[in-house]
This record gives sequence, structure tokens and C-alpha cells, in this order.
Amino acid sequence: MSAAQSKFVVVIDAGHGGKDPGAVRNGLKEKDITLSVALKLGEMIKANHPKVKVLYTRDKDVFVGLQARSDFANRHKASLFISVHVNSASPSARGTETYVLGLNKQASNLAVAMRENEVMLLEDDYKTTYRGFNPKSTESYIMFDLMQDAYINSSIEFANLVERQYSRLGKPSRGVRQAALWVLSQSAMPSVLTEIGFISNNSDQSYLKSPEGHREIARALSKAFSQYYKRQTATPKESNRSEESKSEGSADSTDTDDSMADSSEPTEPKEPHHEATRVEQPNSTSPEGRSYRIQFMALSKAIDTKDKRFAKLGKPIRRIKDGERYLYTCGDTESLAEARKLRKQIAKQYKDCFIVEYRSGKRIGRVQ
Ligand SMILES: [Zn+2]
Repeated sequence: MSAAQSKFVVVIDAGHGGKDPGAVRNGLKEKDITLSVALKLGEMIKANHPKVKVLYTRDKDVFVGLQARSDFANRHKASLFISVHVNSASPSARGTETYVLGLNKQASNLAVAMRENEVMLLEDDYKTTYRGFNPKSTESYIMFDLMQDAYINSSIEFANLVERQYSRLGKPSRGVRQAALWVLSQSAMPSVLTEIGFISNNSDQSYLKSPEGHREIARALSKAFSQYYKRQTATPKESNRSEESKSEGSADSTDTDDSMADSSEPTEPKEPHHEATRVEQPNSTSPEGRSYRIQFMALSKAIDTKDKRFAKLGKPIRRIKDGERYLYTCGDTESLAEARKLRKQIAKQYKDCFIVEYRSGKRIGRVQ
């Protein structure tokens, strides 16, 4: 991000509030925990990154509608949206989960979506605001299948960094997941919803009820933010260097924890719980069969590769089934330099696009 570009704005969204307590157990309320973590996280980001603008959807115990939270982030042209929530299920379930938008029919993910979306029923005019969406009806969720998430790659990247930081704290990470969460669907920027633990589990409760526990979670989120922010704001040259030198710390962070120095592996846009199914024919003619394509989109919907929206992209357009989603790539060249040129061009339309290396038609991975 150059100086000419606008400021990096992070919107921190403390789940629930006011008349909506969220999940409740033994007098412990989700709305109080999320607010405490959100405020601590905001303070840490401000301290580590004075240039970042930190905004809260709420900074006290008030009710804020789901749509209003997304509208707030959109209005302030946020660069990242972090929604903080607390999970609830059977007593044995414990650990953290971080969600990105997606239609996932897995029962547990749908349960989280229904529970977190249900709050819209508390709003007076919810039928109009939510355009007839019924958070309790499974059929309503089909509409999410048609939604495009242009920011899915960045959302997954940040979600992975968050879950990795939780793991470092010794929290059982239940991974990055997809669910049809309204608040994520309406935000026009990379967005995640993180469930920081189960209020229904004794062991999770011990840190969910203490200010030190909240600080610990906020610190993990803040570290993930620093890593993400560094990647987003690095010039291409800088990001190459930090990939090579794994011991390099975060220049912009006052955090001295050595875990900051760890440069993470590039995020593959794949839902972790599903085996990828890729059927492709080798078509490259180079001796090693090496070629490069630009991945510009990942969607749950299958769009015809001849769609007119793709007309201006480099040929050929390919659609690859990957778990429950489709990856879309364009271009196919043996020259990395050419691929970089093409990526730059595609990035004007698809900001998050990246180069993927193929060998003999087989996907090798993302090229930095
Ligand atoms: Zn919640």
C-alpha cells in the first residue's frame, strides 16, 4: 500500500450486545466477553501500528443489528473486518474456530451460522432489512450459494493466521471453516468471524471468564493482525525478502515475541476439511512441463468459463473443482516473468489474484 492510497482501517466487531446477550452460561455472557476482547485487541493494534485506524462496531453494551455492523464497515471503507464471538454446543466441544463466508452443509457449521444469524429476529424491521431471509430455515441458506466473495483469499489468509496463533497458545484449534454468516456476507472487504472458545465447556470457560484470558486471546488476534498487515502493506520487493529470510521480525511491531518472526506458508484457497478433487489434462510443452496460471477467484458457484465477465482476462479460463468450491484461473505460460505481468493486469479487477505453478498439468502451489 503506497502513501497515496487510503489508510488501513480495521473494524473490530464485538458480537451481540444490549438486549442480545448471545450465548449465556453460569452468569457468563457472550456479549461481555466479546466486548472485552474487542477493546483489548483494538488497544494492542493501536499500540503496535499507530498508522492503522481502529474502529469498533460497538465499544459499550449496546444492541447493534447485523446489517448495521456490515454497513458500518462498508461506510468506513474498512480494509479488514474482525468479528469476535463465543461458541456454544455440547459440553465436550472445546477450542477455537475461525469462519470465512461460504455455504457449508456440514451440520455443525450450519448450527453456528443459525445461532449467530438468529439475532436479526430481534430487530423491528428485520423482514425488510434482511430481504425475507429467515435465519432459522435451512432453505434460506441456499441464497448464499449465489453470493460471490471477491475477498475470499484474503479472508482465508487472515483466518489461517488467527487459528495458528491460537494453536501457539495451546488452544485446540478446530480450524478455518466456512459458514453462511450474514455479517460476513454483507461486508465488502476481507472478513472473518472468530469463535474464541466454547462457553459450554469447563476448560474453555476458565479463560473466557478472566480478563487475563481475554488479553491472551486479544494478543493472539493482534499477532495475526500484525502478520497480515505486514503482508498487505509490503511492497512486492519487501515481501519477497521476508519470504526468503524467515528470521526477520515485524518492522512495524513493538511486539517482541519471537513468534512474530515466523513467516507463514502461503495460504492455499482450500477448505481444510475436504480433499481436493482436481481433474486436469497435462497440456504444457516445456521440458519440465512447468507452467504458470493466475488464480483470480474461488467460489462455491460454478460459472461458465465463457461467461462475458471473464472476457477481458487472459485465455484460457479454467475452472477447477476443489472440495466444495471452484477455483478459477486464467492464462497459461511457461514464463514466470510473463505470469507476473499478467497477474498485475488481472489484479486491477481481482485484487487478490495470485500465480499458481503447474507441472505437467498438476497444481504445485502458489508462487510468491
Ligand atoms: Zn455470537
